[in-house]
Amino acid sequence: MIPLAIPNMVGNEGKYLAKCIEDNFVSTVGPFVSEFENQLAKATDFQHAVVTSQGTTALHAGLVALGVDTNDLVIIPSLTFIATANSVAHCKAIPWLLDVAKDTWTLDPELLEQALEENCERSVDGITIYKATGQRVSAIMPVYAMGLAPDMDRICDIAEKWGIPVIADAAAALGTTYKGKPIGSTRAALTVMSFNGNKIITSGGGGALLSNDKALMDSVRHLTNTARKGPGYDHDVVGFNYRMTNIQAAVGVAQLENLEMFLTAKRTIGHRYAEAANDLETIAPFATAPWSEGNYWFSGIFLENWESEKIAKLSAYFKDNGVDARAFWKPIHLQKPYLHAPTNLTGVSDSIWERILPLPCSTQLTVDEQSHVLETLKNFLSEN
Ligand SMILES: *Cc1c(COP(=O)(O)O)cnc(C)c1O
Repeated sequence: MIPLAIPNMVGNEGKYLAKCIEDNFVSTVGPFVSEFENQLAKATDFQHAVVTSQGTTALHAGLVALGVDTNDLVIIPSLTFIATANSVAHCKAIPWLLDVAKDTWTLDPELLEQALEENCERSVDGITIYKATGQRVSAIMPVYAMGLAPDMDRICDIAEKWGIPVIADAAAALGTTYKGKPIGSTRAALTVMSFNGNKIITSGGGGALLSNDKALMDSVRHLTNTARKGPGYDHDVVGFNYRMTNIQAAVGVAQLENLEMFLTAKRTIGHRYAEAANDLETIAPFATAPWSEGNYWFSGIFLENWESEKIAKLSAYFKDNGVDARAFWKPIHLQKPYLHAPTNLTGVSDSIWERILPLPCSTQLTVDEQSHVLETLKNFLSEN
């Protein structure tokens, strides 16, 4: 079976792991942790980075650092991985689910503006209130879908107008650019990444918060490190043990050394699928955006206008021919824990989610393997 997206350990991973054992730095103390933070900040052009145990824990700590609290609303796009919504729920807050734009699959800024204008007002002390329930809207969390940046300038303009902080879920977007620059140029208060096994680099599990705001990042580091004051056992708030270990960071540092090679491989694979999709009548390429060069974290085909039955048939056909290809994120408003969350939907995520079909795109995918994937697709189309 040609896998969808698997880790690629061709660099110094083994060597650096052996160093952790040799030096006996196997837990959260050790040089690879700060090395990984420094290299990440450099690669993304952020001034500060704090690494964590997972992407989800980074999102949670980030929301807490921004003051998100019980019963608040946090705006997120409905088309995302469940962790985006769960990190909000972990704060005992509620995700307010907005739809994505049809062309880019990322949070729709026009809808964001309209949803805020129709549903919210500013209180005398500047807090944005959801009028129907009196709840505070305490953060906006756009998502870099498939590694593609949302329209961050427009989203941040709207957020600034309403006095709401922005925390970007850029879990899978290492290497993505926004308006020609690394994403450290965007105005989000916090940007979060994940180094889970299926991302563009992995630390065998892990995450990071990135920002240009020193005071905010001091508070993030404090929260992720049990809110410990100094070397003793004095803690001033309820913190978390969300630190990354030296073992994870050792793998992360080694992976980061190969980032350019991974990005080139992902881009080449993504371009080939897009070209094939453009050549085939009933198939469309993945979304692109004029303001962002994505990292092609996932690439594949968009089965615009296809019936569910035919999509299932294609997935099964791929499987029978040794190709792992699966439907993508099921929107949050269709997930059992969030059926009662407030929504402003346009029908876009409902109509696209089953039609987004990622195809094998590991960085070590060979030209022949990708040819096999595309031949399989063409054979299916000629038979159906
Ligand atoms: C992977 C991912 C996460 C979660 O990261 P973990 O490290 O697996 O906790 C969150 N949001 C998005 C959009 C993701 O793709």
